[in-house]
Amino acid sequence: MSQTLDLPSHIASLRAYVPGLPISNLAQRLKVQPGQIAKLASNENPFGASPRALQALAAAQLDVSRYPDNDCKELIESLAAHHGVPEDWIVVGAGSESVLGNAVATILDVDRKTAYAQYSFQAYVNAVQRVGAKSIVVPSPDYTVDLQGLRSALKESPSLIYIANPGNPTGTCLDPGELYEFLSNVPQHVVVLLDEAYFEFLPPKLRTDSVEWVSKFPNLLVTRTFSKAYGLAGLRVGYGIAQKPLADMLRRVRPPFTVTQQAQVAAAAALQDTEFLRKTISNNDQCRQLLVRSLNELGIRTVQSHTNFVLAKVGDGVAWSNRLERHALIVRPVNSYALPEWVRISIGTPEDTARVIHAFQQETAVAS
Ligand SMILES: *Cc1c(COP(=O)(O)O)cnc(C)c1O
Repeated sequence: MSQTLDLPSHIASLRAYVPGLPISNLAQRLKVQPGQIAKLASNENPFGASPRALQALAAAQLDVSRYPDNDCKELIESLAAHHGVPEDWIVVGAGSESVLGNAVATILDVDRKTAYAQYSFQAYVNAVQRVGAKSIVVPSPDYTVDLQGLRSALKESPSLIYIANPGNPTGTCLDPGELYEFLSNVPQHVVVLLDEAYFEFLPPKLRTDSVEWVSKFPNLLVTRTFSKAYGLAGLRVGYGIAQKPLADMLRRVRPPFTVTQQAQVAAAAALQDTEFLRKTISNNDQCRQLLVRSLNELGIRTVQSHTNFVLAKVGDGVAWSNRLERHALIVRPVNSYALPEWVRISIGTPEDTARVIHAFQQETAVAS
């Protein structure tokens, strides 16, 4: 295809983003109801959406013939109050993925470089490749971000540093003190993009004061999402927080009208749903602990996770995903991250977790 199209080489060599297998796809193949499939492949909330968000959506009188509010006024007011920052420090996007893409488009071009850890989020890596920027990839032999390595990478003059904390697909997180120390040593002309898509799942001790840090570092952009803990992945809404000069540039680069009115209404309501968040986090802690212990008992190694998913070393990730599909379970092979021996399993409900453990017990018994 790209042989007949005249494309820039960095575009022609792009690889498509590989999402989790859709539920409907497997349901058809297994000839079962979609409700019987447990999708544990995209780190979505196993309890669905925040009930408060659903109530607000039902109550809102939305006119889909009108463009949404481009300024996302009410959502931004809620976010500013929630985080205790000025409204003009907040930039909203269609998922935080689009805020990452926006930051890349703002900071990078074909003559510029970005530095990030090995096994970084595919959507970020793709965004970098879309603009043709160069990547300095710092090895992660133990699946954590090597801050020393990133610091050494500063010698190669990157314009943008990307750190997901916790990371995906690794699930690992950094010590907040060490991360702060790192940020203090980054020159102010280098922007740091701190992707906190899984922030809510961090135990209190490991939570960063990242919003507070934004007021200290004019080169820091922190991103958060409503897709994971808040259960609104399908509505596509996330945001970034940065001091005004950086936020202003991101707003100029941002395409208009990307956040629907539905997403704005639901997100503002979800932010108030502390009960749903509490239930989500407590289930996640319990089920992750049980899943990790059970996998380890079966001799399957896991990487210590502080998120709503676990990376498990199964041998052949694709073969194991296929095997689990026969149990109506969708997990994520991570060969696209050059981790062919691993699968990434999102944490589900207690029932999902019991099913995953049972399937692994059966399949390892068959294999041995
Ligand atoms: C899921 C995820 C996101 C955000 O996804 P959106 O749905 O676009 O908000 C961002 N970063 C990482 C590392 C993720 O895993």
